[in-house]
This record gives sequence, structure tokens and C-alpha cells, in this order.
Amino acid sequence: MVNVALIAHDKKKLDLVMFVKEWKDVFKQCKIYATKTTGTILKEKIGLDIQTFESGPLGGDLQIGALAVSGKVDFVIFLRDPLTAQPHEPDVSAVLRICDVHNIPLATNLATAEAVVLEIEKKLINK
Ligand code: PGA
Repeated sequence: MVNVALIAHDKKKLDLVMFVKEWKDVFKQCKIYATKTTGTILKEKIGLDIQTFESGPLGGDLQIGALAVSGKVDFVIFLRDPLTAQPHEPDVSAVLRICDVHNIPLATNLATAEAVVLEIEKKLINK
């Protein structure tokens, strides 16, 4: 099983929905974790089976970070909003940092998300 965490800040949620819809065939073969609002929207709009955690500002990013620390996340796609200050900026940085600590492929924009999803596809084929 390939485990993928999906998170998007509010202004990036629509981008993530469109991206995941485009790659639905890949994502439906994965175990998906998401923060609450992101996951709920993806479930509603795309019908994927997703395990959701708390909302990001309430600690959901940290919950996903903790999963990553325990080796339960293979890829992270985190469409963060670089133009809006976030109340939970330290939590956002913690997720980025923990991906670097544990060498977990991380995408923070659509261009790298595309590269990550191709890698996920490769991993699914070779499993
Ligand atoms: P949300 O959290 O999916 O609950 O909006 C994401 C975030 O802001 O980190």
C-alpha cells in the first residue's frame, strides 16, 4: 500500500480538488490521509476513501507530521498558500521539516505535485 498525505490551505483547496480528480485512478489505489476540511471536500467532490484528522489550525498538520515520523506516510502533497499568513505557521513548518528529516517526498505546489504523483504511479506499478 502506498500512503499519501494530502493537505491544502484554503486558497489552494480548489487546486487540490482539481488535481486529485485528474489523478483519481492513482489516488484511489492509495491509503489517503488528510486534514479535516481538505479531506472532507475531497470525499464529497471526488468520493475517495480518506482518513481525516483535525483541521490544520487545530493541530491536524501535526497529527499528519506524527504519522510521517512513525513511517506511515510515503508521500506528502501540501498545497500551502505562500501569500497568506497562517495562524498555524509553526505547524506548517514542522510538517515540511519532518519530511526533510525522514526523506519523505514532499510537494508544496502543483508542479511538484505532478512529479510526486508520477512517482506514486511508478511505486504502484512496481509493488
Ligand atoms: P484543513 O487544514 O484541511 O482542515 O483546512 C489544512 C491546513 O490549514 O493546514
